[in-house]
Amino acid sequence: MALQTPFQPCVLVHGGAGSPLAYRDGCIAAAEQGLNALRAGGDALAAAVAAVVMLEDDPRFNAGTGSALRMDGRTIEMDAAVMDSLGALGAVACLQRVRNPVLVAKAVTHTPHWLLCGSGAQRFAHDIGAAEHDVATPQARARHEEMLQQLRHGEPVRHGSDNADFLDYWNFAMPPPSLHDAAAVAGAAATDGSGQGGTAPPTRRDAACDTVGAVVRDGAGHFAVAGSTGGATPSLLGRVGDTPIIGAGFYAGPQAAIAVTGIGEQIVRHLLARTVYDWLAGGMPLALALERAVALFDPAVAIGVIAVSRDDSGSRSNNPMPTALACYAE
Ligand code: ASP
Repeated sequence: MALQTPFQPCVLVHGGAGSPLAYRDGCIAAAEQGLNALRAGGDALAAAVAAVVMLEDDPRFNAGTGSALRMDGRTIEMDAAVMDSLGALGAVACLQRVRNPVLVAKAVTHTPHWLLCGSGAQRFAHDIGAAEHDVATPQARARHEEMLQQLRHGEPVRHGSDNADFLDYWNFAMPPPSLHDAAAVAGAAATDGSGQGGTAPPTRRDAACDTVGAVVRDGAGHFAVAGSTGGATPSLLGRVGDTPIIGAGFYAGPQAAIAVTGIGEQIVRHLLARTVYDWLAGGMPLALALERAVALFDPAVAIGVIAVSRDDSGSRSNNPMPTALACYAE
């Protein structure tokens, strides 16, 4: 049914740069969920969060349930963020064992701070009653095993980094594997009680860059963004990428909302979300802004951007990136 609003309400979501396009059904369901939140009277922020909660609960994506494992094959640390054009801003980093990190990020908007990390974020999540959850999945364990195979075969596991660096700077309680003995880590993962260690790895694809995100324009012309991730792989303990960093992985203001996915270590260098926002606010057509954003990066670096402005929306990536757009019919 058409709604009489000055702006066409729209929800645009992504399932990560480098994520199979076959996962688009999950994005469609999440965008619809966001739109339903708007239909129910929720604002742009409520819609963005509703969409991301659905993606976090879909185990195919690297966020919430299904998050990537850190290099030890055991730890999962998740990041999430929310922001809207009315002033809401909240984020969490390195959160463990929580079903929906984006809900914790939303709760941070009510605190005196904008970002909580590590043990403080953990206690905060517990205090607000966030659902505790083992977010590890067989698929994530299989992907970890796949990464170990690459390491074992000397294939670069992260563009721009030496494989050896991940072992030289190893900061987990358990000892690092040697490059010749990566099978030892695989063995540790296989005997960690999950019973999933023998799962056959899926078809090889890019390092995990299947963070999820949503950007929303509501009928009042307000914007919001929400994002959530288990982090790019492989990662050392305590690693934080762009997803919970304002201006890098996300930004929302009076003109637009932007969500970014890809290798966080590269994205933060360009403050990509804020850069795109400034281009849009300066009048650059949205399609051109997204094209320029992706062109800032070496094509070997997985990058994806989605944006919604006052009168447009779109996505761009240099890797397969499932997306879905849901708007009120005009
Ligand atoms: N940007 C995320 C990170 O670096 C990964 C992703 O987009 O999938 O943590």
